[in-house]
Amino acid sequence: MEGWRAWIEVDLGALWANYLLLKARAQGEVIPVLKADAYGHGALPIARFLEERGVGRFAVATIAEGRALREGGVRGEVLLLGSLHPLEAEAALRWGLTPTLSTLEAARALAERAWALGLTPRAHLKVDTGMNRVGFPWEEALAALRAVEALGVRVEGVYSHLATAGEDEAFVEVQRGRFQRVREALGPGYFYHLENSYGLLLHGGENARVGLALYGLVPGFGLRPVLRLLARPTLVKRLKAGDRVGYGGAFVAQGGEWLATLPVGYADGLPRGAVAFVRGPGGERFRVAGRISMDQTTVLLPGPVDLWAVFEVLSPDFGPTGLLAWAEARGTIPYEVAVHLSRRLPRVYLLEGVEWARAGG
Ligand SMILES: *Cc1c(COP(=O)(O)O)cnc(C)c1O
Repeated sequence: MEGWRAWIEVDLGALWANYLLLKARAQGEVIPVLKADAYGHGALPIARFLEERGVGRFAVATIAEGRALREGGVRGEVLLLGSLHPLEAEAALRWGLTPTLSTLEAARALAERAWALGLTPRAHLKVDTGMNRVGFPWEEALAALRAVEALGVRVEGVYSHLATAGEDEAFVEVQRGRFQRVREALGPGYFYHLENSYGLLLHGGENARVGLALYGLVPGFGLRPVLRLLARPTLVKRLKAGDRVGYGGAFVAQGGEWLATLPVGYADGLPRGAVAFVRGPGGERFRVAGRISMDQTTVLLPGPVDLWAVFEVLSPDFGPTGLLAWAEARGTIPYEVAVHLSRRLPRVYLLEGVEWARAGG
């Protein structure tokens, strides 16, 4: 940490508290969703941390994400969300990833490649209960299951995804009803999972795949944000009357203001135009002056600080320096802002204030 001018800090204690809270709400299993590098938080350290505490199943979106977990030593089940493309069948098998099937083409490719490699084809079946994105139509779930199993694929789980959790509760109930009918038709012997963050938090439920809430990015419910973005200034100086700051000269000094330049910008994931404040070393709120550039951000201070001062650019509090505030100011959802936190920032993982792991840097 001492060696960095800008970095991300992840509080594993808060992450674990969120996991336990979600687990208490679910009547079954909570599968941590680690796609998009765990929504920008860093998938491998989080998977290893959770695996060490007994979590045995994770979900990612791509082969490369699954492979990175395997190469990092993660041994639990890694479910590939989305719908397997036939050309990925061999890679999924080689890396020991559990694909999701929603076409017979993919099921056939998986069975054939497994046969050639001497491996067992295992998969979860995706059922479309109303999102119309991926999945076998729910009315045909039993026929699809039979066809996939007839190819020699071992179907271990069956799942669907909610399209309107937190937005249209009536349609959530429609999807839940359809999924329940699928369960009754397919019978026991499969691991069924439906809920996502909002589904689980608003309605409870059984088995859930949870991303956003695990990272504390749903306000309320007692969840804790887990990530901070910190930076030390690379320059601190006093402005003269009429000095213009940054691209476009958008900020014009009256004279006498103190300015700190922080070495983080939109390439690090700060949404341009949406970051109005940062927190100072004493918790004070300091205004961003002028435009955020690719690698740097300028901040107004009441007085000088030295280059070792640590500013909290992204604070875990949902105030004006929080990720939810950034998303709102940007007119987007917190998911999008989180996944754009850049990989070029090193990350440190803390457990009760003690370094547990670090990545990058
Ligand atoms: C991303 C994803 C999730 C997690 O959703 P959250 O809203 O972040 O909890 C669950 N299931 C599927 C299929 C997903 O793609």
